Amino acid sequence: MKKFLIVFIILIFECLTFPQAVPAEPVMFNVQTQKVHKITCPHAKKCTKNCIKIERKDAYVQGGKPCKTCGG
Ligand SMILES: [Zn+2]
Repeated sequence: MKKFLIVFIILIFECLTFPQAVPAEPVMFNVQTQKVHKITCPHAKKCTKNCIKIERKDAYVQGGKPCKTCGG
């Protein structure tokens, strides 16, 4: 019975900590123009060849500039 209780507590703990492990917001990064777009930006939707989906932080580390329409 004690063992069961410990497993139960661990399961609850993992459920509570999991949402924090979800990575930061992804963006569409245009590797040609170096523009950073929100996923919902109309430019990002048109951009299928040169855009890659990466984390916002990583896009700016790679020299990304915010899009004038969506603000990156
Ligand atoms: Zn944009």
